[in-house]
Amino acid sequence: MSTRLPEPLSLPSSDWGAWVAARCDGELDEARRSADVLRESPGDSAATMSTWNDLNIALQNAFAVASLMANVHPDEAVRNRSEQAEQDAHKLLTEIGLDRQVFEALSSVVPEELDDGGRRVLVLSIRDFKRAGVDQDESVRERLRELAERETAVAQEFSKNIRNGVRSVRVPPSSLEGLPSDFVEAHPPGDDGLVEITTEYPDYLPFSTFSRDRAARQALVQEYLNRAWPANESILHELLELRREHAGLLGYDGWPSYDAEVKMIGKGSAIPEFIDRIAEVSHEAAGREIEVLLDRLRQDHPDVTSVSNVDKLFYQEVVRREQFDVDAQLVRPYFDFTKVRSGLLSVTGRLFDVEYVEVHDPTWHEDVTSYDVVRGDERLGRIHLDLHPRAGKYNHAAQFTLTSGIAGRQLAEGVLVCNFSRSLMEHDHVVTLFHEFGHLVHHVLAGGHPWERFSGVATEWDFVEAPSQMLEEWAWDPDVLRSFATDEAGTPIPAELVEKMRAAKEFGKGLYAATQMFYAAVSYRLHQDVPDDITRTQRELQERYDVFDYVPDTHFFASFGHIEGYGSGYYTYMWSLVIAKDLFSAFDRDDLFATEVAHRYRDRILAQGGRRDAADLVADFLGRPYSFDAFERWLDSPG
Ligand SMILES: [Zn+2]
Repeated sequence: MSTRLPEPLSLPSSDWGAWVAARCDGELDEARRSADVLRESPGDSAATMSTWNDLNIALQNAFAVASLMANVHPDEAVRNRSEQAEQDAHKLLTEIGLDRQVFEALSSVVPEELDDGGRRVLVLSIRDFKRAGVDQDESVRERLRELAERETAVAQEFSKNIRNGVRSVRVPPSSLEGLPSDFVEAHPPGDDGLVEITTEYPDYLPFSTFSRDRAARQALVQEYLNRAWPANESILHELLELRREHAGLLGYDGWPSYDAEVKMIGKGSAIPEFIDRIAEVSHEAAGREIEVLLDRLRQDHPDVTSVSNVDKLFYQEVVRREQFDVDAQLVRPYFDFTKVRSGLLSVTGRLFDVEYVEVHDPTWHEDVTSYDVVRGDERLGRIHLDLHPRAGKYNHAAQFTLTSGIAGRQLAEGVLVCNFSRSLMEHDHVVTLFHEFGHLVHHVLAGGHPWERFSGVATEWDFVEAPSQMLEEWAWDPDVLRSFATDEAGTPIPAELVEKMRAAKEFGKGLYAATQMFYAAVSYRLHQDVPDDITRTQRELQERYDVFDYVPDTHFFASFGHIEGYGSGYYTYMWSLVIAKDLFSAFDRDDLFATEVAHRYRDRILAQGGRRDAADLVADFLGRPYSFDAFERWLDSPG
């Protein structure tokens, strides 16, 4: 194999602290040097843009290593040093974003002197500078700095109150009937003869799903929906006010307009239109499903007239078990981790026409397996799979960047960081693995651009999830699963079992859509209207969008963590699902590996990275603008 020139980053086999410091500080210095050149002697248009690209490559290199190592390195001292580097990178990024001289240098670039890619980078960069407020007068910039600082502090306070806002109830041991035995063993009664159940997920989710004691579920849900209340009510008010002022100073009519400008949805006013449209198309399915839940609930409690969070998880589970006959204990033996991993590689290798060649260079931990991603005699990138839990490691699932691919300069390297079992996996986790791998392959395949701005998953935030949500479909396909999901005796998972699993998954999609639109409406309305009475607004929106009833005297918004991170953009989850269903409609369900469409998808969507707007990529792939049709058909179909 003759490899393409950029070599992988060579990682150390010891003294990681020094390596992280040298890598990050070195790249930040490089970025500062580029900023100096832009301030002092930027040169002609092409030279200016090339220096600007250098600056961004260096800054991104520092961010990538700092953020990855802060989350995966086994040595706490290395993680701390990496966090420090991350803060340094953030500081430099903010400084450059408000640097008048660097902005002037870019503003003097003549677009006609650039190629298409250069012109797009220029337009996006000028937009980012203006969104940071660089062209405002000094008093406004000063106020923007104050607002940014205060927003960070208030947002941290909001999240901290949620993390620390654990509540609990004490219930009789009989309330634990229906819960798995390991849960019961871990929850012995106290001196008062009662069992403590907290609002943390490992307690809340199983208890609300399995406890047959409705009064106990009611008590727990009441506490759960009041986490961080009342503390977060005034804090959320302040955060909403700060964001409104921030957007107003920059000339926007509210935070949603400011935020949506750089998203696929484009305009703040398009958010409520989207929410109402999804609410409308999911109305029938949600209505059908809530009737099923209510009917089943009434068999146990004939007087009840509506379903709320008190009964939601419990009866969804009852219906799945009684009506869809899926037993998780029968599913697990087919998903042995090692077979799943090699299955994932052969499925995606076949789909995207690449090979994964295992390499044994040093990494940060012995659990990590590394592969070169190869097509013919060309090395496209390198991936690292870090898939099992250990102390101090990031505890969700995500794709991280090690290096962004830059044509002729840097090889794309990405890392999957997950926490899966080393032996048998839940099917949910298999789906998660496919999902995250979707981000990883996007990162690698879009690693051949000269501009850092286009490299990897450099697309609009509300589109980012679509390719990953689409790849999940392969983890639900009976034929795909049969190719690697075999039990100890080597028998592939039966197609009928997969069909039952799919049917069980499909039940509840209307309920899901309706509840998601309630959350999206809260996220949008609170930011757009900044109401005095948040509880009242929440109740009105729940009545309008959700099919589950409001639980009296609760204040869910106080623990709605996403309102801090996503701001007015909670709709993005559903938006990218609409796009994912539309993309998937181009594939043949009976032949998920059909070459023409798979390669067209690879080349026109994934490999493009941020080269064009997501809406244009989707239109180029589908041969028409994106539409809601596939999503609507999915909602209407029984399974
Ligand atoms: Zn994702």
